[in-house]
Amino acid sequence: LGGSISKALQRMSNATIIDEKVLNECLNEITRALLQADVQFRMVADMQKNIKKVVNLDDLAAGHNKRRIIQQAVFNELCKMLDPGKPSFTPKKGKPSVIMFVGLQGSGKTTTCTKYAYYHQKKGWKPALVCADTFRAGAFDQLKQNATKAKIPFYGSYTESDPVKIAEEGVERFKKESCDLIIVDTSGRHKQEVALFEEMRQVSEATKPDLIIFVMDSSIGQAAFDQAQAFKQSVSVGAVIVTKMDGHAKGGGALSAVAATKSPVIFIGTGEHMDEFEVFDVKPFVSRLLGMGDWSGFMDKIHEVVPTDQQPELLQKLTEGSFTLRIMYEQFQNILKMGPIGQVFSMIPGFSSELMPKGREQESQAKIKRYMYMMDSMTNEELDSSNLKLMNDSRIMRIARGSGRPIVEVMEMLEEYKRLAKVWSKMKGLKIPKKGEMSAL
Ligand code: GDP
Ligand code: MG
Repeated sequence: LGGSISKALQRMSNATIIDEKVLNECLNEITRALLQADVQFRMVADMQKNIKKVVNLDDLAAGHNKRRIIQQAVFNELCKMLDPGKPSFTPKKGKPSVIMFVGLQGSGKTTTCTKYAYYHQKKGWKPALVCADTFRAGAFDQLKQNATKAKIPFYGSYTESDPVKIAEEGVERFKKESCDLIIVDTSGRHKQEVALFEEMRQVSEATKPDLIIFVMDSSIGQAAFDQAQAFKQSVSVGAVIVTKMDGHAKGGGALSAVAATKSPVIFIGTGEHMDEFEVFDVKPFVSRLLGMGDWSGFMDKIHEVVPTDQQPELLQKLTEGSFTLRIMYEQFQNILKMGPIGQVFSMIPGFSSELMPKGREQESQAKIKRYMYMMDSMTNEELDSSNLKLMNDSRIMRIARGSGRPIVEVMEMLEEYKRLAKVWSKMKGLKIPKKGEMSAL
């Protein structure tokens, strides 16, 4: 996919005269690629029309970086399509909110409910899970297991068969227990059936959710629009979560879901585990959709903002893929020293959403500094190892003492390291283009 787009753009930039025909050919190839990524045909056609409006052929002929201009236009257009123009309801900590999850069976609802609860719990919320799926055998057991593992209170029944009743009782109970995030997991069916939508309507009426989240499997392909629309027509969906983004699917269906529900994507699921869950970030998502490779934008930024003399070393470390605590330390140094490198990391899903949330840069900087104090108390052996097994209790205690920080914070720092190391490991074996080759997608 990425190949065909870059080929199309390459051909175009080689052409001496960029006329209507060349531009059309190029756009047709991008169209094909986007269709393969499950973007709906109608949306691709719209995009193509819009591109023609914004890309000025005269500018292109003037010998500027043509590929850049087209790439940027396509990129911007897709970002726009993922923005419904209004944010979703955001729950407030300490104030009870009811969040209802809907989606077809197997889309990842139950898993995502737990991830959503766990994500907020880590941030100091009091979440609770209600299992209103009485359709699927074992649904309650699954939720119970997940909830127990995450130490989240749950409610459900083995005998009651009325999902509306369970939902109502569960929500009521957790409101009394002053939970601030009451999550209602619902049933799905293999198909979009009248009975399912009727059930969703009833559960929604009974629990009066503040937000209804439509959970979409990224691999459902072109079916996304109809599916999202069907749910939106029966209940008032206000946000989308796209799951299984760790698989092969590029997730183009998300554009359809946004269009059909007029709601934003808020999170993506990137694995079966509880913590494989990320705040949705438009730019990396669109990069992936375009097959730009998750890291090409990132590499561009490296060339832009990392001092030239540090580039080869950093790039080598990147491709070797062994991410040590020392590398993390150096990157933190960069982040603090030169603000713009924050932009580099904002290209990476894991770095941006957790470590440097938008609008909270100061807080993030303070945290990074604390992490660095702790790393200052580490030995060379510790800094140069990428094996966390080395970090036994006595070492952790020594680091805590040495830096005057609590033990839990040292553990938190190591968790952060683990998370970043995972992001980093994806870059292993990546072919890093040299400077000058960077204009290619
Ligand atoms: P539900 O029927 O909508 O409740 O879906 P489940 O939560 O039971 O998930 C269906 C299957 O998808 C399970 O095997 C999950 O482990 C798996 N799953 C859910 N989310 C993800 C994800 O983000 N990545 C991967 N790889 N698997 C997922
Ligand atoms: Mg389920």
